[in-house]
Amino acid sequence: MSEMNKQWLLKSRPVGEPTPENFELAETPVPEPGEGEFLMKTIYMSLDPYMRGRMDAGKSYSARAELGDVMLGSGVAVVTKSNNSGFKEGDYVMGMTKWQAYSVSDGTGIMKLDPSLAPISTAVGVLGMPSLTAYFGLLDIGQPKEGETVVVAAASGAVGSVVGQIAKIKGCRAVGIAGSKEKCDYVEQELGFDICLNYKDADFADKLKEACPDGIDIYYENVGGMVFETVLPLLNDFARIPLCGRIANYNMTGHPEGPDMLPAFMGQMLVKRMTLRGFIISDHYHKLPEFLREMGGWVSSGQVKYREDIVKGIENAPEAFIGLLKGANFGKLLVQVSEDPTRK
Ligand code: NDP
Repeated sequence: MSEMNKQWLLKSRPVGEPTPENFELAETPVPEPGEGEFLMKTIYMSLDPYMRGRMDAGKSYSARAELGDVMLGSGVAVVTKSNNSGFKEGDYVMGMTKWQAYSVSDGTGIMKLDPSLAPISTAVGVLGMPSLTAYFGLLDIGQPKEGETVVVAAASGAVGSVVGQIAKIKGCRAVGIAGSKEKCDYVEQELGFDICLNYKDADFADKLKEACPDGIDIYYENVGGMVFETVLPLLNDFARIPLCGRIANYNMTGHPEGPDMLPAFMGQMLVKRMTLRGFIISDHYHKLPEFLREMGGWVSSGQVKYREDIVKGIENAPEAFIGLLKGANFGKLLVQVSEDPTRK
């Protein structure tokens, strides 16, 4: 029997946290590339928090998926058949391969990878979208200056880990926030942040104040929720807040209970003359060449380190994604769909 394609479809929309029942695994024939097209065999599928927004019916920052669609996402693949002169069999590529084992493309949005320069998996991690997000958000919006204090949560993750390491390169104090002692130890000891605090500790607010004796100049916002509320009183005059993500809210079904924080937030923003700027990295892909030059140098010199959390088997994608929204991942989350011939 010939090999079949495996595809994860959006079966139903989640209410709150996604569950395995929201996804359906379909087996379909491996597609044939038409004229000018080529077939890609997925090696690594990237799982990213933005995918949660696509599962909802409402408008998110990324286009929503329709029921029955293959779940969207980028990945790293190898070309296994080609009718396109720009791509040949054996080429390694990165692009919108979706949650599936095989896909066909005409080359639009597909980037060729050179495995001799960096592990191919990094094209969706430290040399890809999440790291570009860290780079743009911190440098362009945050405008860090030597001696300033930069705070970032989800600090062991794909974006946060890079934010803190760039902050150190720029001579700042880097304060990480993460969800376990193990993650915090890694952030301090391996990534070289000055300190990392567990936001689940009962005395988190006191510890954060102690860790930022000169206040906070840049709060790189990845999570929202109680972490943001704890950070808010510590922000300095003219603080900058690159608003990158708010993962603590992604599974929310309504407004949180408790006091309305909006007036306090507006008051702080005004009195401290702060800047908060939301951004979506797809508006800033023109930065990619500059980013790849600089980040490529930092990664190969060891100034920027990274960690990948590789889940084996496409069957495990929904469970891994559900875990990502609750902090089960430790590093850039990838699903390995097929063998990586470049990895020894
Ligand atoms: P990560 O690799 O950091 O994984 C997500 C992490 O978020 C989890 O491991 C967990 O870490 C943390 N987390 C989950 N729930 C909560 C919570 N309730 N409170 C605090 N932390 C929580 O993901 P990424 O690095 O890929 O993404 C980080 C953020 O950046 C996300 O908000 C994402 O949406 C955003 N993003 C935005 C982009 C843009 O264009 N604006 C582009 C790319 C990413 P822990 O155990 O430490 O809590």
